Amino acid sequence: MRSENDLYKRIEHILCELLPDVPTAMYLAPSLSEKESLKLLSLSSAANPPDINYLMARAETLKSQQILHGDNHYCIVLRKNKAVMGLLWIGEKIPMSRCYLVGHLINVFYNQLNTLALSRIDPLTQLLNRQTFDDKVIEITTGEGFIAEREQQGVRHWYLALFDIDHFKVVNDNYGHVIGDEVLLLVAQQLKDNFRAEDFVFRYGGEEFAVLFQSHDSNETLRLLDRVRAVVANYVFPQVNHLTISIGFTLLDDICQVSELVHEADLALYHAKKHGRNRVVDFDELGIAGQAKAETDIELF
Ligand code: GH3
Ligand code: MG
Ligand code: MG
Repeated sequence: MRSENDLYKRIEHILCELLPDVPTAMYLAPSLSEKESLKLLSLSSAANPPDINYLMARAETLKSQQILHGDNHYCIVLRKNKAVMGLLWIGEKIPMSRCYLVGHLINVFYNQLNTLALSRIDPLTQLLNRQTFDDKVIEITTGEGFIAEREQQGVRHWYLALFDIDHFKVVNDNYGHVIGDEVLLLVAQQLKDNFRAEDFVFRYGGEEFAVLFQSHDSNETLRLLDRVRAVVANYVFPQVNHLTISIGFTLLDDICQVSELVHEADLALYHAKKHGRNRVVDFDELGIAGQAKAETDIELF
């Protein structure tokens, strides 16, 4: 199963087959890790939207019940650790056996969604993992992942930044891997805290991170990334005290291959390392766009 979209399409297809001409509405929490307000995912054309607040309140009250019975509807509840994570409203009385079957299938669907979400997470840092990175870049460059412009904010572009902890090997050598892991966790937390919820933060490799985010232009990007660099440089890590990170970034160009984009950000990062570390470098400022591509023997990752 490649994506959530495939899963959604499949469950919608199954519901259409099992409940032909029956009005249905499916709600799901936008994030599977935390309970949030439920979002309408699909509504069959015949249906008047049900009163979601009323359904939620009933589902919360009937703590362990999976199927709520209404006068002329059923509501199947998806729960995670007792929290209500989703609802399937069936706006017509159908045979109970079919209702149980739908309930079972909806739970299988929800478990698959959770498995998919887990497969995208790096277990140590809880950031998105490397396997998810290519898909996300493709989503963004093909337009699927673009977020609507906020009003009066002007056009923003997507950027890719690669972060690499400076002299991280010394941390492991001097303090051991457990402290090394703790440092990775804390750096990951700082990256998360310093980007927006709509940005994507990845653990790209051992002590390397990638962030996909939006900004108006290179100057703004440089300022933003330099602020993150300074946050890490000023942070007092347990035992290790201070360490620094180097950052290289590039603009996401919709005609670029993922490997080209990474290569550009990688060259900027390489430049930052070579010129003293603890700095941010814009690929465009290297002035070696053509020449850079020839330097394919430089492999940081
Ligand atoms: P530079 O400034 O050039 O980036 O130097 P560096 O020492 O950070 O880079 P180098 O590539 O030599 O070493 C990276 C180290 O990161 C080596 C590896 O053992 C460590 N590392 C990679 N993944 C993990 C991990 O999950 N946990 C811990 N503790 N260490 C890791
Ligand atoms: Mg490295
Ligand atoms: Mg390093």
